[in-house]
Amino acid sequence: MAIQIQVYQSLLEWCTKRNVTLVAVSKTKPSSDIMELYELGHRDFGENYVQELVQKQAELPKDIRWHFIGHLQRNKVKYIAPFVHLIHGVDSEKLLKEINKEGGKHQRVIPCLLQVHIAQEETKFGFDSVELTHLFDSLSNEPCEHVFLKGMMGMASFSNDMTLVRKELKKLKELYDVYQQKVSPPFSHLSMGMSGDYEIAVEEGSNMIRIGSMLFGARG
Ligand SMILES: *Cc1c(COP(=O)(O)O)cnc(C)c1O
Repeated sequence: MAIQIQVYQSLLEWCTKRNVTLVAVSKTKPSSDIMELYELGHRDFGENYVQELVQKQAELPKDIRWHFIGHLQRNKVKYIAPFVHLIHGVDSEKLLKEINKEGGKHQRVIPCLLQVHIAQEETKFGFDSVELTHLFDSLSNEPCEHVFLKGMMGMASFSNDMTLVRKELKKLKELYDVYQQKVSPPFSHLSMGMSGDYEIAVEEGSNMIRIGSMLFGARG
């Protein structure tokens, strides 16, 4: 399956006009698909599975910025810590501590986003607002020097009800605004929006969208 070049170019233009970063979600897609976009100048790619990301990182150009967007298990942090550009799915304090530890080992400060649970589905990961309060209390006592918290990430319900989707995305933006100034430097990244809801997400304040199927075709 080749990538949709026209779609890519118009989406990129759309994002550039709005100062939105386009993360091309290449999970389950072959490295040849990534290279097609790479040759057009694209550098931000998102992956969900550690093993797949590690393999692709080893064989593909080293100036690719790899975004880890999936659920990250603590025992797998060590495999991506040396090179990952941004971890979107930090969904627990324990995971944050582990990333901090691995960042220390590699003398890195690893950029991370906090994943917030906004969907109705219980299956989705992320902090709720009470857990966020606890997290920030705990970080003010015990900072994580090898983690750079740059913002938040979330996923709306998988639903055709766009009123519901918009409501959930709005909730994430509200939480983002609450916490933005509580960190120094202030939050700069709000990662929300996928193929089905990126326009609404950007209307609601996202500045980073994660697009898979629209660029690479449906996943098998
Ligand atoms: C797969 C995935 C995407 C991309 O989804 P599409 O609907 O294919 O654009 C975005 N974010 C996360 C967290 C994903 O797992």
